[in-house]
Amino acid sequence: MNLFMIGLKEDMKTELANFPKKECILGRVALEHKRMYRVWTEEGELLCEVSGKFSFESASREDFPAVGDWVILSSRKEEGTGTIHAILPRFSKFSRKAAGNTAEEQIVAANVDTVFLVNSLNDDLNVRRIERYLLLAWESGANPVIVLTKTDLCENVASKVAEVEAVALGVPIIPVSAELNEGLDKLKPYLEEGKTVALLGSSGVGKSTLTNSLLGEKKQAVKEIREDDDKGRHTTTHRELVLLPGGAVLIDTPGMRELQLWESQEGLAGAFSDIEELGGSCRFRDCRHTDEPGCAVREAIRSGILTEERLSSYNKLQKELAFIERKADKRAQIEEKKRWKAINKQIKTKKK
Ligand code: GDP
Ligand code: ZN
Repeated sequence: MNLFMIGLKEDMKTELANFPKKECILGRVALEHKRMYRVWTEEGELLCEVSGKFSFESASREDFPAVGDWVILSSRKEEGTGTIHAILPRFSKFSRKAAGNTAEEQIVAANVDTVFLVNSLNDDLNVRRIERYLLLAWESGANPVIVLTKTDLCENVASKVAEVEAVALGVPIIPVSAELNEGLDKLKPYLEEGKTVALLGSSGVGKSTLTNSLLGEKKQAVKEIREDDDKGRHTTTHRELVLLPGGAVLIDTPGMRELQLWESQEGLAGAFSDIEELGGSCRFRDCRHTDEPGCAVREAIRSGILTEERLSSYNKLQKELAFIERKADKRAQIEEKKRWKAINKQIKTKKK
């Protein structure tokens, strides 16, 4: 397997060369299951675990490898296994709240170059939803491209595109029809060899159909693979990295399909830059844009520059973010305590 084809960049080789442990190789995580990782390497696919040292030094879930991660590992080629020692810095990541009622971050896809925000052009095209997806994209570090599917079911494509443009300044918007095989060639620039893409969009908008079109005749190759689980039973599984015919890698994880909101103020500012900017001209610095005097945001609504709905989706998101942040703070305190406990314990055992 040629690693450049699956997204390796020159500086990653430098990272490997500078890594203190010798005789390691690079690989990309194709599947994660209960802290076991299928990793693509030049020596083929290896089943890997993280080293004891790695595990000890990892405080929380996002410190562990995720699908799409580049890792440094030592291989036991004969056994088809390996040990992961480090994760290379992620240039983008999609994450969500982990299962349960914690504010822990779970990374569902790492190192994505371009994310296709897939929306259907039929009746329920929802610009508010597109705003939310854009927010996720800006926060992730991946470049968003809005794909509007089912042009064959839409009579006023141009006006819908204009509607979307209004909330997505500067973002490429590509209308396609998988049914008529139209517009798909416009996606090509994002699908060159070594590029990594992912899809984000609600159920039913046409993500699977689009994936199949991108796969073309390679469709067969992603059929499920049967393998033994840890109890020796046969289970069907698949790789969550998919090599597309043109050479790009598609990340297709279940988590990507059910992404929940997990952002910081930074992402919010990107997706609602117009409101943030207007807010800068409010008379009061902590203006809540409700009924304060000299509020530039309310003024923009009165004069029709901004819609009431856009402001309320902005407010709704801010509330959610504040909630997540409060939880994350609490969690960080607990992690810190755990870490010190572990370190103290280690010091004590060393002294003996
Ligand atoms: P997903 O849930 O996002 O993966 O959506 P699917 O790919 O399963 O598509 C949902 C439905 O929309 C299916 O019945 C598809 O056949 C249909 N569909 C997808 N793309 C198109 C398109 O371009 N035109 C039309 N007319 N139907 C489409
Ligand atoms: Zn204001």
